[in-house]
Amino acid sequence: MIELSGITKSYTIGNRSMQVLKGVDVNIKQGELVAIMGSSGSGKSTLLNILGILDDYESGSYSLANTSMKNLSEKKAAQYRNKFLGFVFQSFNLITFKNAQENVALPLYYQGVKRSKRNELALQYLDKVGLKDWAEHLPSEMSGGQKQRVAIARALISQPKVLLADEPTGALDTKTSYEVLDIFKRINKEEGITVIIVTHEQDIADMTDRIIYMKDGLIQNQV
Ligand code: ADP
Ligand code: MG
Repeated sequence: MIELSGITKSYTIGNRSMQVLKGVDVNIKQGELVAIMGSSGSGKSTLLNILGILDDYESGSYSLANTSMKNLSEKKAAQYRNKFLGFVFQSFNLITFKNAQENVALPLYYQGVKRSKRNELALQYLDKVGLKDWAEHLPSEMSGGQKQRVAIARALISQPKVLLADEPTGALDTKTSYEVLDIFKRINKEEGITVIIVTHEQDIADMTDRIIYMKDGLIQNQV
C-alpha cells in the first residue's frame, strides 16, 4: 500500500538548512497496524506529513497504492488524499461551534453529499465510536477522549484506505489513551483499514502489530 525509498527532506530557516529526513525506507502493507516511534524532533511528523501528501519530499520515492506521489499538483494531491487517506491529530482539530454530528459530517459536505444523507452517515459513524448519544453536543461539552473519538469518526466517514494519526493520545490520560487505541485496533481488524500511529509512548506503540523506530531522520529498526 505504502512504499517509501530513500526519502529525504530539509527545512530552511533563513540561510540555515537542516536535513530532517536522511533517506527513509519504509514499506507498509494494506491492513497493517503500525506505530512510528521516536523521540521529539526525530522527524516523525515530517514523515507522516509526507505520507499524507500534505508536504513534498526532495529525493527518493513514495508510492501509494502503486502510484508515485512525486511532484503532484495541488489538485491531484487533494484527490489522492480524499480517496485514500484519513487524518487524526493530537489536538483533535474539531470545529468548536459545530456539534459532534456536524463535525463528523463535514468531509461529506465538501464532497457535495446532501444534508440528510450526511447527517444519517455521521450518526452511523458516531455510533461506531460509541458516541451516538452525543451527536448534539459541542466539543466544549465533551472529554478529550470523546473529542478524539469524534475526530476518528470524521476521519472514517470518507472511507479511507489508510488512517494517519499524529500523537493521537498525546493529550489524553493513560486509560483514555488505551480506549482510543482500542478503537484504532477495532477499525483495523474489522474494516481492514491500514492504521499508522505516530507516538513517543512505548505502551501505546506496544498495542500495534509493528513498531518502526526513528532516530535523527532515519529508520533505526522495525520490530
Ligand atoms: P517529531 O514529530 O518527531 O517531533 P518533526 O518531524 O516535527 O519531529 O521535526 C523534525 C525536525 O524538523 C525538528 O528539529 C523540527 O524543529 C524541524 N521542523 C519541523 N517542521 C518544520 C518546519 N515547518 N520548518 C522548519 N523546521 C521544521
Ligand atoms: Mg511530531
